[in-house]
Parts: sequence; structure tokens; C-alpha cells
Amino acid sequence: MENTVLFKNAAVFQNGRFSAADLFVKEGVFAPAASAPGDAPTVDCSGLAFLPGFADVHVHLREPGFSYKETIATGTGAAARGGYTAVCPMPNLSPSPDDLESLQAELSLIRSGAAVRVYPYGTLTRGEKGETISALEETAPFVIGFSDDGRGVQNAEIMRAAMLRAKSLGKIVAAHCEDNALLRGGYIHDGAYARAHGHRGICSESEWGPIRRDLELVRETGCAYHVCHVSTKESVALIRQAKREGLDVTCETAPHYLLLDETCLEEDGRFKMNPPLRSPQDREALLEGVSDGTVDMIATDHAPHSAEEKSRGLEGSAMGVVGLETAFPVLYTGLVKTGVLTFARLMELLNGAPRRRFGVGGEISDGKPADFTVFDLDRRYVIDPGEFLSKGRSTPFAGKTVYGRCLLTVCRGRAAWSDGTLLPPARPF
Ligand SMILES: [Zn+2]
Repeated sequence: MENTVLFKNAAVFQNGRFSAADLFVKEGVFAPAASAPGDAPTVDCSGLAFLPGFADVHVHLREPGFSYKETIATGTGAAARGGYTAVCPMPNLSPSPDDLESLQAELSLIRSGAAVRVYPYGTLTRGEKGETISALEETAPFVIGFSDDGRGVQNAEIMRAAMLRAKSLGKIVAAHCEDNALLRGGYIHDGAYARAHGHRGICSESEWGPIRRDLELVRETGCAYHVCHVSTKESVALIRQAKREGLDVTCETAPHYLLLDETCLEEDGRFKMNPPLRSPQDREALLEGVSDGTVDMIATDHAPHSAEEKSRGLEGSAMGVVGLETAFPVLYTGLVKTGVLTFARLMELLNGAPRRRFGVGGEISDGKPADFTVFDLDRRYVIDPGEFLSKGRSTPFAGKTVYGRCLLTVCRGRAAWSDGTLLPPARPF
């Protein structure tokens, strides 16, 4: 039997819970297990968790323009190894996808290099300069939404006009909220660690100020709005209130903001990202937000840089850490095994919410594309960046002991990642 596999005795996560089931995949699509022919190739999966492919709505794949940091191939390889079947790369690229012509360069690299599904963002403003709105009408049919991630849109009039155009195109605005006037050369959180060690801090208001401004604009324009990498308690409170009002708002945070704070900082570039690790009170508020639904989803903000760019300590290193290959195990170990979140809530954050809001991510159901991932949840290991498929190796989770090893990720009927336990890599089915 070509292009079929029967996975026997799996623990399948479906409709919010695990149940014991056989999964039959035929030509890249889930089919009823009862329809599997007697001679279908069979893999015994006793004790393994079958999960719908995760979706990350905020990654940096660095191509075109910065392939020394990451490529579409290495970034999506890392995604697959982390259990992701869908990623949405941000548009801080060269050329930046401001119009159809510049977007074509990225789309062609995606077609030739991607191991999983890739849904790019287009820029909100040309070159992310915040001055002229991009050719949104041109890029809209090919992008998941619009963003100037990496920079905040400083001018409220530009943001209002961009929101109105995005709304007329039926597209979401994903906002990197940062007020440049409040940065004052800061590079870690403006808190106890910065004061104790003589570093320049980034205040919380540089994030929540622009969120408050944008929520006013959402109230006025009715634009679908998503806040990127929420890191402060004030941001959580503002978004909670906006949701109570019924505004069309969602938001994400990243694993490092939930599991680490400024008390974990070391004088090492692998602890540097933007926004920065905040205070323990901010981390608590984010955990509350994740539990009560204010924070809709967890994105990694996977932001690879070269080893040299991350070697210059807290002050001199580039902003950003990798996350695709560590997100699930650190969240499962740090939040589910400790009883902070249920497994079902974690799957909502990694799959359910991105699927509903952005239409990306796998679904284990007969007739749906077989985009799924298989984890050995009991496998304990130490995070070793030397094993990463990503070119970026800088992570604050290096050396942490975690549970949950990804054995296989299937996307579009191909093993996008296989460690060889269940299937040889690249076997089509
Ligand atoms: Zn950002």
C-alpha cells in the first residue's frame, strides 16, 4: 500500500482530551481507521501522544536578507522538530514585503524551502519605517496579516489609517507595541536587576502605552487586532478590559515570559530579547492571563541570530532568542507537570486559539490534512542547543531538564521531522 500508514494504539488528543485510538493516514489526510486495509503499513505507538500540529503566529525565518541567521529551510526544520506544522514569519526582512513584488521573493523561498506550512505577514508600513502605509491591497491575498514587528508604529494617525485599510481588506493587524520615546537606550527590564548591575532599563510603559493607544484606535476603527509578545502586567490588564468591552482583540505571550523573569538574568546574551524578561509580578500576571483566557495563545518569537551577534553580553548582544525547538517541552514541564495549566489549556494556547483566530494549525479529524506531531511525554532530557536544527543557538533554556520529546511531525503527508523511532525521515504517506 503506497502512501498509507496506520498508527496503532496511540493516545490521541482530540476534542479537548486524550483517548486511545488508531489513526489512519491516507494520501496525507486522516481517514477512518476502520477503512484501513488489512495490509496497510502499521506502526505501534503505545504510550505516545498524538497531538494536532502546533501553530506559531510569531516567528522570524530571516529570509530573504539575513540567511546567515536562519533560512526558511532551517527555521521550518526547527519548527517541525518542535511539533509545529504552521508558522507565521514576521516581515522584518530585506526586501521587506511591502508590495507584491517584494513579497514574491519571500513566497518563492517558501515554496522551495519550507518543511511546514508558512503563512507570512506583510508589512504595515514601507520598510517598517512607520511613515508610508505599504501596498496592503497588493499583499493582502497572500499574507496572514500585517505587522511592523521589530518596531512600534510611533504615529497614531498612521496606525489609524493602516487599521482602516486592514479592516477593509478583512485582515488582522499584529502589533509590536513599543514607544521609542521611552526607550532611552534600555536593553533589559527597568527593574531590580538593571539597578543592581548598572544596566539601562526598558520601562513597562514603553509597551503598555502603545497598547492603550491602539485599543482606542480599535474601538474607533473596528479593526481585528492582535498584540504581539505581551510582557507586562499593565498590558494584561488593558487587554482583559478591552475583551470585556467586546473589542476584536487577541494577544500572545512567549514561553520565556511565563517561565522566567528578571531574577533569572545572567550576564549573557541568551537572556536578551525584546520585550525583556520583566519582574516576577509581571510573570504572575501573565500566568493569570493565560489561565483566565486574557492571553489567547503562546508564540515563540523565535528570533535567531549568529553566535557572534549573541556573544556580546546583555548590553551588546542582538535582541532575540530561539524558541521553536524548546517551547513545548519547557511549557509542558514548567506549567503542565507542575499543575499550573491543564494539558487541554496548553493545547488551546499552541493550537486551538491560533486555529480559530488565524486559521492555522492542525486538526486531528477524519477528512482533515494529516498535520500532526507525536511526542513521548515521559522522555526526560537536557536541552542542548547543539542539537538544534535552527541556525540560532541562543536560548535561556539551555541546560534545563525537560520532559516531552518530539519523535515525529507530519505535514502535508510528509515526515517534516522524524527522529527515526517511528518512521524513516521523508517517507511520504
Ligand atoms: Zn516584536
